[in-house]
Formats: sequence, C-alpha cells, structure tokens
Amino acid sequence: MSPFAEYEKKKGEIVEEFRKNARENGTFSLKKDTSNLFRNRVNKSKKLDVKRLNRVISIDPVHRIAEIEAMTTFEDLVNETLKTQLLPPVVPELKTITVGGALVGLGIESSSFRYGLVHETILEIEVLTGDGRVLICRPDNEHRDLFLAFPNSYGTLGIALKVKMKLIPAKPYVRITNEKFDRVETFFARMHELCAKNRSDETHSYIDGVIFSPNEQYIIQGEFTDEAPYLSNYKYLNIYYQSIRQKKENYLTTLDYIWRWDTDWFWCSKHFGMQNPLMRLLFGKFALNSKFYWKIKRLVFVNPIVKALVKLFEKPTESVIQDILIPIQNAAEFHNYLQKTIAVSPIWICPYYVYNTEEYAFCQFDPSQFYVDFGFWDMIPSTKPKGHFNRLIEQKADELNGYKSLYSDSYYTEEKFWQIHSKQAFLKVKHKYDPEKSFKDLYEKCVAR
Ligand SMILES: Cc1cc2nc3c(=O)[nH]c(=O)nc-3n(C[C@H](O)[C@H](O)[C@H](O)COP(=O)(O)OP(=O)(O)OC[C@H]3O[C@@H](n4cnc5c(N)ncnc54)[C@H](O)[C@@H]3O)c2cc1C
Repeated sequence: MSPFAEYEKKKGEIVEEFRKNARENGTFSLKKDTSNLFRNRVNKSKKLDVKRLNRVISIDPVHRIAEIEAMTTFEDLVNETLKTQLLPPVVPELKTITVGGALVGLGIESSSFRYGLVHETILEIEVLTGDGRVLICRPDNEHRDLFLAFPNSYGTLGIALKVKMKLIPAKPYVRITNEKFDRVETFFARMHELCAKNRSDETHSYIDGVIFSPNEQYIIQGEFTDEAPYLSNYKYLNIYYQSIRQKKENYLTTLDYIWRWDTDWFWCSKHFGMQNPLMRLLFGKFALNSKFYWKIKRLVFVNPIVKALVKLFEKPTESVIQDILIPIQNAAEFHNYLQKTIAVSPIWICPYYVYNTEEYAFCQFDPSQFYVDFGFWDMIPSTKPKGHFNRLIEQKADELNGYKSLYSDSYYTEEKFWQIHSKQAFLKVKHKYDPEKSFKDLYEKCVAR
C-alpha cells in the first residue's frame, strides 16, 4: 500500500471512531505516546487514539514540500528530510514534539529569526473538525478562517490529521561560534543587530543565546558548512550547554546541532542527577533524552504514591516553566525583573521575527517588531500560595507587551485571558467548526483546573 493510501485508511478509521463516540457526552482529547505539555490536570475527556498518524507521507525535493501525518515527531521527520539534504525551516528543540503539536502550540527554534514560528511554514492542514467534517484548510480556500485560527488553538477547534510543510536546503555540518557578553543590554543589542542583518542573507542560519547570569551571556551563531575540521559529540558524557562557555568555535553534524538541546533537556537534566559524570556513564545511553525526563516528571505529577513520597522529602517549591516572547526594547527590563523575582539560570533566549504576514487569529505578532523568547524551566523554593511567582511573571510580561506560551500552567483570570486571546474571534470559529463542543474551549483547556 502506498504511504498515501495508508494515510487514507488510518484517517478513515480515526474519523469513524470520532463520529461514533461524538454522540456520547464529554469532550475529546488525544491519545498519544509522548507529550511536552506541563499543565497538570485530571483529564476526564474521551480519548481518541491518533498515535498511528505518525509517518512522513512524501517529500518533494524539487518544490521542497513535505506531506506529513500530524502526529509524526520532528525526530522522524528530520531523519527523512535529511536523506535529501533538506530540513524543516523551524525544528523545535525536543525530539518528541510532533508536527501537529508544534503547529497548535507555537514551535520556536534558533532559525525563528528568519523563518518565524513553526506554523508560519505550514502550507496546508487537513483537519478533523469538532462537528466531524474532514476539511482541507489553506490560506487561499474557503476554510482560510480555520487555517488562520489553528496556530495557538491547542486542539480546541479540531485535530490536525495531515500537514504540508515547506522545507529548506541543509548541509552536513554546522559551524558554531559563541560570543560572550557581560551586560544584558549589550547582549540584546548585538542579537538585534545580528538578526536584522542575517534575516534575509544566507550566512548564519541559526542564532540563539543563553544568559548564565547578569554578568555572563552568549550569542550562539550556527552556519551550515560542507566540511568540518573536527566534530564534537554531546550525546553522552559531554554536555552541550557547558561547551558554550568553554569554546569560541565548535563543529557539530547538522543532526547533532538540531538535537543539541534534547540530550540534557536544555540544562534541566540536572534535576535528574544526569549531569553527574558517573550517572551519565552508567545510565546515559538510555536516559539522556527529553522523552525519558518527561516520563519521570509525569510520574511524579500523576502517581499519588510517588507524589506523596516527593512531598515528604522535598522542600516546598513552585515550578516555573515558561516560554515568553518579549519585544526587544523591553527585553532587558524583563530580564532584570526575572533576576529580582525568581533568579533562575540559565535562561534560553531565542530571537523571532514574523516570517509569514498572514493574520493568524490567536497569535498576532507585529511584523515590524523584533522579539526574543525567554525560555526558563525550573523549580524554585517557595512557601507562597500556589502560582505566586508564575502570576508575577505573567503580569510583568503583560505590562511589557509580551506573550506567554500556553503549554505550561497559566494563572490568568478568565477576563484577562480573553483580553489577550480575542474571545469574539475564538467563538466565531468555534461555532462554525465545533458547535457542539467536542473539544474544550481555549480557556478551559489551557488555564482552568
Ligand atoms: C521544558 C519545555 C521546553 C520547551 N521548549 C520548546 C522549545 O524550545 N521550542 C518549541 O517549539 N517548543 C517548546 N516547548 C513547547 C512545545 O513545543 C509545545 O508544548 C508543543 O505543543 C508540544 O507538542 P507535542 O507534539 O508534544 O504535543 P502534546 O504535548 O501532545 O500536545 C500539546 C497540545 O497540542 C494539542 N495537539 C497535539 N497534536 C495536535 C494535533 N495534531 N491537532 C490538534 N491539536 C493537537 C494537544 O491536544 C495539546 O493540547 C517546550 C515544552 C517544554 C515542556
């Protein structure tokens, strides 16, 4: 059977199951093997098993377009595209993030200063809507409204079954340069200058940064090359983020560059003892990957016995897991606020310019504005009421015209949430494509507990 015929068969089974169960009360959620969500709820929704939609259907190297089943992980997608020296323009850092998850959840990476967020590289989405229809949505057809509403909708309007994605040419290696700074103002100004310059020229394909402290920051630039004088390896005993401080120049295979943050979940592997050389030696071969960390973390969140044990031995903490896009002119102020309130380190900084100027309904960024994403994922000691620090950060981000990603816990009031994400626009598409509420609404799903 051809990959396309196989897709049609799997799609038929899933749609049939959906329509059959839609008659029962309650909303649907997706049954998948992996996730990268950090919102902890008791999920009573009906589960729709969509795991099998996990294959790349075709890659057209001439027009540089991939047709992909939406639960395909970026790891599998990149393995396929690299066979013809192509890559998705934006590959989120964690191997298990799926094409559909990044589309509905605003995927970002170090190429986002040039190609925007993942959804800006998507050309077409085939959607199973809440009312049981299967629709092809494109910016130029009658379902343009759903196409534009899908990014940042987190599965509240329908399920992406298949997408068409633009691809870009790649080379076998990436040369990395790490430039050090000792003031955040200078660091952000230089990042702005570099991204504006490289936005359309082809030299530096990747730019991101790490803030280790108010006195130590790095801009990391990546450039495709055909040859490499040597190659570093950060998949086992050595740790990528530490190399940024140690080396001014470095070379990785393109595949290793793409997954450089996955091995140590940026730097969060420290919480699992995996930055200890002995632990790495003993368990590194199977434990050094984001899938493993997420499973352990999930176990601590959901298993009542493990939860109780952790509570018994651990001091009270608040988990502060956030990605927040801030306009560059407010970046230094936001950084200083984070230092004052939660003092987490390191912080990942990922630059972003709008690439596709379509008017996406739930993620409207200003095309003339340069943004930086602050990624910080940590547990901080706290005896304050639940969500205290997250609330402070949400308020500050809002004051500075920032935008907080919804994959982790949020504490907005319903009123505030709908000021940020137009309620009117949401209800309009919701009524049209999911009038009986087969899926939760955006506030219910992303904030309410
Ligand atoms: C520690 C951490 C760091 C992160 N860092 C980054 C980063 O650097 N770059 C980045 O891009 N992202 C990052 N993320 C966020 C991640 O991209 C989003 O959480 C994304 O939505 C996860 O995709 P997933 O495939 O794992 O989806 P899931 O976690 O399985 O699902 C996420 C949401 O999307 C919905 N959904 C999933 N698939 C579909 C579909 N096919 N159709 C409709 N709805 C669907 C689900 O219902 C759910 O609400 C990070 C997350 C964490 C926890």
